[in-house]
Amino acid sequence: MRDKFRDECGVFGIFGHPDAANLTYLGLYALQHRGQESAGITSADGKRLFLSRAMGYVSDAFDEATLLSLKGPSAIGHVRYSTAGDSRLVNAQPILIDCAHGEISLCHNGNLVNAQELRDELVRRGSIFQTSSDTEVILHLYARSQAPMAEDAIIESISQVRGAFSLAMLTKDKLVAVRDPHGFRPLAIGELDGATIVCSETCALDLIGATHVRDVEPGEVLVIDSTGMRSYKPFADAPFEHCIFEHVYFARPDSKVFGQSVNEVRTDLGRRLAREAGVDADVVVPIPDSGVCAALGFAEESGAPFKMGLIRNHYVGRTFISPQQAIRNFKVKVKLNPVRSILKGKRVVLVDDSIIRGTTSRNIVGMVRAAGASEVHMRISCPPTISPCYYGIDTPRRSELIGFTHTVAEIQEFLGADSLAYLDIEGLLSAVGSRRGDYCTSCFTGKYPVEFPHDENAYLQLALKLPSES
Ligand code: SF4
Repeated sequence: MRDKFRDECGVFGIFGHPDAANLTYLGLYALQHRGQESAGITSADGKRLFLSRAMGYVSDAFDEATLLSLKGPSAIGHVRYSTAGDSRLVNAQPILIDCAHGEISLCHNGNLVNAQELRDELVRRGSIFQTSSDTEVILHLYARSQAPMAEDAIIESISQVRGAFSLAMLTKDKLVAVRDPHGFRPLAIGELDGATIVCSETCALDLIGATHVRDVEPGEVLVIDSTGMRSYKPFADAPFEHCIFEHVYFARPDSKVFGQSVNEVRTDLGRRLAREAGVDADVVVPIPDSGVCAALGFAEESGAPFKMGLIRNHYVGRTFISPQQAIRNFKVKVKLNPVRSILKGKRVVLVDDSIIRGTTSRNIVGMVRAAGASEVHMRISCPPTISPCYYGIDTPRRSELIGFTHTVAEIQEFLGADSLAYLDIEGLLSAVGSRRGDYCTSCFTGKYPVEFPHDENAYLQLALKLPSES
C-alpha cells in the first residue's frame, strides 16, 4: 500500500528548436518523479503532428528510432501516474485528435473538478470518448467550438473547465500553455537558443541548459508561434491557491516553484520544526529521500549531527511484489536498510515530510529500534494530512488517512515512537512566506477553495468511469 501522496503528472513543451523531440525527451527525464507509469511525446513539423506513447519510465518509452520519427521544431511531452484500474496506454498522454480546427495534442497536469458533469453533457450531445481521463473533455469542447480560429476555440474550451490545470497544447504551428486561474500546479517558461519552453518544474530547464524566464501566471494563456508569444487572460480573477505540497514533497529540491527554491523552503521547514518541536537527541536521521532537506534544516537548528542512518535502495522496481506475503514488512526492508553503527545506543530523531497511512512510518520506527536506537523521536515537516486532494494529487480516501482517524498521541502510539510532532500550519505558511490565502492547504484543513462532487465513493480523480465500466 502506498504511503505517500503522489503527484500525477509532469508536462513539457518546446517551440522553435531543431532538436525539439530530443530536448522534450531529456526534459521528461528531469520530470520523471512526477509520473512513472507512462510517458509520451507529440511533435509538429508545421504540417502535421507525430505521436509516440508507451507505458513505463521515459527510458522504457522511447528509443532512437522513435525519437527520429518525432519530426519538427516543436513538441510537447508528458509523464503520468494513474489511479487504480486506470493504468492503460489509452489513458497515457499526450492525447491527439483531429477535428474541424485541425490536429491538436494536449498534456495536462492537474484535475478538472467538473469533468464528469461536462462529459455527461457531451455524451448526451453525441460525443464518443476514447479514454477515461478528465483531460479528454477539453478536446471534445475544443472540437465542438464554433469559433473561427483555433486559438479562440482553445480559449473557449478551457473557459468551461474548473479545477487544477497546467496544460501544454500543440497544433501543427502553435504551442499553447495554460494555467488555471488559481495556479494550483506550477508551470515555468524557459528559453534556449531562441526557442520557448514550458515545463512543470525548472529542473527540466536546467537539464537542457535553458534559462528560466518566468512562470506562466495563474489564469494566463500563452500562444507561441512563428510570430512570437501572445498572452491572454480569459478567466475571471480568482485567489491564488498554489499547492503547498509541491514545496513539502512533490517538486524536486533543485527546482524553483511558485517563485521560491524548493530546497530552501524545505530546509526551512526543518529549521522551524526544530524550533517548534525540538528534542534532546544524539543524531538527526532523514527518511530518504523525502525527509533529507527538512532533516538538514532540523540538524542545523538543533545542533545535533545529521547522519544517513537509513540507506535507500534505489533499484526497487515499481512493481515489486513480496515473494512471500507471510514475511511482514518485507517491502520496507527491501527499500530501506538501517546503518547500525550510526543508530546503536543513540537517541534518534527521524525526520520525514509526511505520514499518510502510517504503516510505512511504523515499520521504519521498528527498524530503527531493532538496529539498537535507545530512543526514536519522529518529526514531520508539515501538519497532519486529514483530507484527500481533488486538485491533481493521488491520495487515499479520508478514512485511510491516519491524520484523520487518529489523534497525534494515538499516531505516536501506533508508530511505537517515543515522541511525535508535526510542523503546524502557521509554520508551514511562514516558510513559503505566505499568510493564509496564496496557497492551497486543503489536505491539512479539509476546507476546499474549488467545489467538487462530494460523494467520495463516486468521485475518482483521473478515472472517470466510462458508461460500460460503471
Ligand atoms: S489539497 Fe493538498 S495536495 Fe491538493 S492541491 Fe491542496 S495542498 Fe496540494
